[in-house]
Amino acid sequence: MSNINIEIEQQLRNENVDIIHFVDISMLDIKQNRGLPFAILIGIAINPHFLEMVCNTPNYIHTIDDEYAQTESRVGLIADKLANNLISSGYKALSQSDNGLMAENAFDFDTKTSALPHKTIAVLSGIGYIGKSNLFITEEFGSAQCLGSVLTNAPLTVTKNNILLPKCYRCTICHNICPQKALKGVCWNTNVSRDEIVDIYNCITCLKCLACCPKSRAYMKQAI
Ligand code: SF4
Ligand code: SF4
Repeated sequence: MSNINIEIEQQLRNENVDIIHFVDISMLDIKQNRGLPFAILIGIAINPHFLEMVCNTPNYIHTIDDEYAQTESRVGLIADKLANNLISSGYKALSQSDNGLMAENAFDFDTKTSALPHKTIAVLSGIGYIGKSNLFITEEFGSAQCLGSVLTNAPLTVTKNNILLPKCYRCTICHNICPQKALKGVCWNTNVSRDEIVDIYNCITCLKCLACCPKSRAYMKQAI
């Protein structure tokens, strides 16, 4: 691992980031990677007590200041700080926080897609997979993490990992629990689009699919 990887990892660990991964994105289209070869994937686990509450509260809807929103915002601020540090060190860096994406005009509000979703970087990292919930699932936290990313040309050391296929098997909990019937029960693979898995326009962000997934519940049980 290069010195710069170690420095970044230390900086992010000091900010209590749970997931840190250095990912090669050089093979992607320039519209996606914006001409930058590497991505730094970061993730913070969501408070398990909050998820327990979501699971146990009928009709819960995500608010702009709930624990999920606060975790997302923390990830965005950390990504901004990391990108600024890299720029100060003479490298190119783009924070894919909400503010960073807006400044760059890299988020399409009509289709609710960004030029390069964190989830795509996460899939390339090989540390997890996309479930039938359309959420990224890791062994450690299930789908209970907020992800962020920074794109850069800093000379990082990256390891190539295989893309993982979903381990949802016959589980249909998220499909059954979705109050909007927005989830279609479809398993992801590299030929399946987001819209084949979820009707994003019908999702009310109740977070039930996230909190009630058995993979997230395993993390909650272990953490509480
Ligand atoms: S897809 Fe949307 S509406 Fe359906 S369970 Fe998940 S967050 Fe709720
Ligand atoms: S609830 Fe079941 S089907 Fe849905 S993402 Fe989690 S493991 Fe997969």
